[in-house]
Amino acid sequence: MNRSAVWHPFTQHAAEPAMPSIARTGGAHLETADGRRILDAISSWWVVTHGHRHPAIVEAIRKTADSLDQIIFAGLTHEPAERLANALIGLAPSGLDWVFYSDSGSTSVEVALKMALGYFRNIGAPRSRIVAMEHSYHGDTIGAMSVGARGVFNAAYEPLLFEVDTIPFPAAGREQETLDRFEAVSRDRSAAALIAEPLVLGAGGMLMYPAWVLAELKKIAEASGTLFIADEVMTGWGRTGTLFACEQASISPDILCTSKGLTGGAIPLAATLATDAIFQAHYSVDRKKTFFHSSSYTANPIACAAALANAEIWRDEPVTERIAALSARQAAGLRRFRDNPFFTDSRATGTIAALDLRAGSAGYLAEIGPKLRAFFLERGLLVRPLGNVLYLLPPYCITGNELDGLYDAIEEAGERFGSRP
Ligand SMILES: *Cc1c(COP(=O)(O)O)cnc(C)c1O
Repeated sequence: MNRSAVWHPFTQHAAEPAMPSIARTGGAHLETADGRRILDAISSWWVVTHGHRHPAIVEAIRKTADSLDQIIFAGLTHEPAERLANALIGLAPSGLDWVFYSDSGSTSVEVALKMALGYFRNIGAPRSRIVAMEHSYHGDTIGAMSVGARGVFNAAYEPLLFEVDTIPFPAAGREQETLDRFEAVSRDRSAAALIAEPLVLGAGGMLMYPAWVLAELKKIAEASGTLFIADEVMTGWGRTGTLFACEQASISPDILCTSKGLTGGAIPLAATLATDAIFQAHYSVDRKKTFFHSSSYTANPIACAAALANAEIWRDEPVTERIAALSARQAAGLRRFRDNPFFTDSRATGTIAALDLRAGSAGYLAEIGPKLRAFFLERGLLVRPLGNVLYLLPPYCITGNELDGLYDAIEEAGERFGSRP
């Protein structure tokens, strides 16, 4: 058998050309087995923050593997997990005092939903409804899909998904509709939680909304005793310009999910942070109030050490300055497109820049997607549009010249594939 036995994620194998095999990574680049360099403009699906194989993270992984591998995390603990939890509490918005480890963004969301329902049940005032935002994405497990946007991605599994209350995306000029709808669905105090991606909805098309809306949502949640779950799986670790996006609204969520950039993108790990009130609702001599959740690889020591190294990079290196410089470059890059007839809605939040290509048909399955991907790959650029939405979400070590090259290629793509209004 010559063919590969690998079934790839989000991949229609019948339509996919042969895939390059990556043999090496470093900084903002991937390198194929035959030595071709590819600029990773999407941080390998939003995970790599500082750059591929940051030396301090590689060293932490190496060193920890000398003394520790996976250990059961019920009834036992270890130093990397303890130190990381303290570091996370120090870095996260105030009031998040407990850290529950898991292994992927989807799992961190499942954990958040279970914490919210467990909280209300354990305090003797059960609530089970979840409020979610239109166009949001929270992962691909059944619970995470249930609270995310419905569409072609999950049509086959729809019968398994639970009902949620959906509030509209706070599009510019229509923010009040979102707030009014949330007010209406939470008024009867039956909603356990609002789950939302703060400031930027990633997989939904890099949709952006302002911090004041986030602050207002939190206020409404508080007024009705609804928990606020911030899914910072993509937005965390500097993407939006601050370590966590919630900081820009000066809010502390009741529950915060983090994964992707948690280890700098080197190795899988996730954490769900919660307030003391949520922990205390599960703290009891009554064993029925236990938080019944575990993943086999919970708090993997090597992954925790990588995340700790990441936290130290944030402490020791001028990461904030790097992010500010990248954010300014992204804003400048987008300015080129103000009068470009082939694009609309150019937008940026922190290090994330996005713009919509005017093309015949929009949506994720638009034929244009694979063509654009191939166009960029021919030029040694890893860009993976969401339908007709082009975005750059690069590692923070990308240079100004490299970004200029990306914007040149986007301009060229507009002329090649775009249509005029
Ligand atoms: C990627 C993502 C997830 C899911 O994370 P996985 O690690 O892929 O399971 C959840 N929420 C958001 C906002 C994401 O971007």
